[in-house]
Amino acid sequence: MSEDTLFARIIRREIPADIVHEDEHVLGFRDIDPKAPVHVLFVPKKAIATIDDIQPEDAELVGRLFLAAAAFARREGIAQDGYRVVMNCREHGGQSVYHIHLHLLGGRQMGWPPG
Ligand code: C5P
Repeated sequence: MSEDTLFARIIRREIPADIVHEDEHVLGFRDIDPKAPVHVLFVPKKAIATIDDIQPEDAELVGRLFLAAAAFARREGIAQDGYRVVMNCREHGGQSVYHIHLHLLGGRQMGWPPG
């Protein structure tokens, strides 16, 4: 089922996206409805529906999402001031697309706690 999510279709280039990073395992693209001056989503090419579905063998892959986000933040010039990464899980977490994705948000002061 998760192979047919919106993000799987972006990975397969069936839906256009503003792609900022691609490697063998990870795709990064700008959020279509940005919540900050910089808002990019980093997704594994492997379809994993939620954080709760991550398996021990996916540990390196999940780490790659963070490495890709941090490298992009440096390229984008927001690393010095800082930024936030967020991954939402299911309904209470506010997840709307069931293919895990790491949000990178930056370019403004973030509030805490999140809503
Ligand atoms: O964490 P959550 O599942 O709510 O995040 C999904 C994100 O995907 C939203 O920030 C939404 O704006 C984004 N999105 C996108 N491109 C689409 C559809 C949704 O960037 N075509």
